[in-house]
Amino acid sequence: MKIIDILKNKDFVFSIEVFPPKPDTDIQVIYDTIEQLKEIKPDFISVTYGAGGSTRTRTVEIADKIQNYYNITALAHLTCIGSSKEDIARILDELQDKGIENIMALRGDLPKDNSNPYKDFRYACELVKFIKDRWDFCIGVAGYPEKHPEAETMESDLEHLKEKVEAGADFITTQLFLDNNHFFRYLRLVQEKGIKVPVIPGIMTATKLINIERMANLCKVEIPERFKNAVSSCDINSPVCEETVKYTVGQINHLIKNGIKAIHLYTMNKIEQNKRIYFESKLAEIRKDK
Ligand code: FAD
Repeated sequence: MKIIDILKNKDFVFSIEVFPPKPDTDIQVIYDTIEQLKEIKPDFISVTYGAGGSTRTRTVEIADKIQNYYNITALAHLTCIGSSKEDIARILDELQDKGIENIMALRGDLPKDNSNPYKDFRYACELVKFIKDRWDFCIGVAGYPEKHPEAETMESDLEHLKEKVEAGADFITTQLFLDNNHFFRYLRLVQEKGIKVPVIPGIMTATKLINIERMANLCKVEIPERFKNAVSSCDINSPVCEETVKYTVGQINHLIKNGIKAIHLYTMNKIEQNKRIYFESKLAEIRKDK
């Protein structure tokens, strides 16, 4: 099913993200994870695409399994930086042949060594247009409540977000944020910009300070003191951190209480922590799992 139809037809949409295991790790690991995360009944599961296409075949294989074996709507991420049109067309044909109907169209991060990374695409809006011209996928794009790190101003970033939507994007999923104020401010700016497609907030939890610091540094998102304190109290050997479960449950409940109708959980392939968050937040209640 197309995600835009799920968003139109359901009162509340809950989705999760997983990432493919490294090429030298047995792919079964991710299927064991999905098997357990299935319990929280996501309306769709997104599968990331490794930087520079490093997990390309695994992304396609996992999306195929989600769609056709687990019978859950799959959203395959695809980055275009460093790719030719032929490379991208091949992947899109493959995904279409497997019955996958949803693509998260991304540029991908610039390489750290300052080498010229560009081939046939410079920005995600070009990928959106390329897909829309030849295929019939539902297309998601990325939005940044705290601004994309390369953008000079929020205004220019929103202008480029609008270009992606005008090129044919159907919905926006946000970068993680740990303070809902960033999201609500962003939502207001997106609406003021005249962007009318649904904006799905992306929520991430953590059980280790180092992991969230690495992620926050990469994405240039603020880690509130309260989150830092919560994650600092975690036993790093435990799969669950009680304090960050509480924090993320609070964040999700606050979004729901303020009228948000969709949540996307960046699971980081962590089973117990995300199941706890689901069942202890209003998500389970709202979806009648409690
Ligand atoms: P773009 O929309 O192209 O934006 C990139 C930058 O260029 C922004 O600063 C924007 O303001 C600017 N820009 C855009 N258009 C123009 C223009 N016409 N002129 C001048 N400037 C412009 N990365 C992966 O490698 N794999 C994944 O699976 C993945 N999944 C993600 C999922 C989500 C929900 C999010 C939020 C991010 C994800 N990323 C992933 C990270 C993403 O690839 C990076 O954030 C990347 O740096 C930007 O990608 P984009 O699609 O937002 O790019």
